[in-house]
Amino acid sequence: MKIGEVIQSADWKKEKHAPVIEAPAVVKAGEPFVVELSIGKEIAHPNTTAHHIAWMELYFKPADDKFIYQLGRFDFSAHGASAKGADSGPAWTSPSARCVVTVQGPGTLVATSYCNIHGLWEGSQDVQIA
Ligand code: FE
Repeated sequence: MKIGEVIQSADWKKEKHAPVIEAPAVVKAGEPFVVELSIGKEIAHPNTTAHHIAWMELYFKPADDKFIYQLGRFDFSAHGASAKGADSGPAWTSPSARCVVTVQGPGTLVATSYCNIHGLWEGSQDVQIA
């Protein structure tokens, strides 16, 4: 099998696991812009010790390139685990990240997210050059 066969995708407005990418549709080549990544913008995903988003990654696939380039990886490491027991810890991280990105040409931002019990998900957004 190939890993792509088990990466799930869906409209993030209807599926709480699908990564949400918020970025300008049109940017200037060589000028930094902000990309916001999140999960559960429309439908909240649980954030408990037993069930949470463990990490997200952001990539850029240039339109004229056969390869994809990793822009960032975000580990969400605190989910209420504690010596007192599950969900009784002092800290939680929410699955949200802000990344400043610069591209030289048009392409597609691709995000992946990993739920510890519901597997891998992906989402994408095209970026055009002004
Ligand atoms: Fe889940």
